[in-house]
Amino acid sequence: LPEPVAGMLEPVDVAEMLPAPERNSDKYRRGVLGLLAGSAQFRGAAVLAAGGAAEGGAGMVRFVGPDEVATQVLNRWPEVVTSADVADTGRVQAWAVGSGLGDGRAAEVAAVLDTGLPVLVDADGLRHLPETLDGRALLTPHAGELARMMDADRGDVEAHRLRYVQAAARRWNATVLLKGSTTLVAAPDGRIRVNPTGTPALATAGSGDVLSGLAGALLATGMEPFDAGSAAAYIHGLAGQAAAEGSGLPSASAVLDALPAVLAALHSA
Ligand code: AMP
Ligand code: MG
Repeated sequence: LPEPVAGMLEPVDVAEMLPAPERNSDKYRRGVLGLLAGSAQFRGAAVLAAGGAAEGGAGMVRFVGPDEVATQVLNRWPEVVTSADVADTGRVQAWAVGSGLGDGRAAEVAAVLDTGLPVLVDADGLRHLPETLDGRALLTPHAGELARMMDADRGDVEAHRLRYVQAAARRWNATVLLKGSTTLVAAPDGRIRVNPTGTPALATAGSGDVLSGLAGALLATGMEPFDAGSAAAYIHGLAGQAAAEGSGLPSASAVLDALPAVLAALHSA
């Protein structure tokens, strides 16, 4: 038989990927995530991404962004530590950049990429990718963003999702998570996983921002980008399903609120 092209992600795989909560843990061992997100136009994206990280188990979230965005983030998540500049963030173990950033901010994105730390790049952050990313990055485009990255037609990407996600992973030497009704995760070495969880209810503004915070938090634990992306997609899909049980078409905030119970169930699996 030929090798399967893509492996379906199973619940037990995901439970095993997650670091077990430790009795002796501390916030640094759980992972500190730097978050560069939001803009005057898209403040909520920063709030949702910070929430995805905080509810997704991050030991600490350090937010970088304009004051008016930081104020909103702190209003909802007082546990977040804010700073004005990437260089002033102190100890960080991974970064998540891009949600709601708008189309400027190239210098800040470059400063994050220059830290050499594991990094998740989403949304507008994907406009500022360097030639290659040496294996430490997790890129989370939807089909439109991937089409822009590859200078391709969106319809062509949608018709050949597997081919495009694999090509992008090789081209940037990065893990690429292609969002959509079925999420695909490709590693630079050619491995592909298909995420089995999720619901069309996730097709709502802000749900991608929750995913980016959650996946960033998993990267900050030290998980490999391929596992962090796969596990985040899986958990995010389950949270969407749980939220949809309560209300047919939940908001992204409701998906966020469902994360802790989903994580608790996986940790006790
Ligand atoms: P974004 O495109 O950044 O807004 O992110 C949307 C999120 O919702 C991603 O995690 C997608 O995989 C998910 N999503 C969007 N549409 C669907 C759908 N029809 N079925 C399941 N998940 C979806
Ligand atoms: Mg998005």
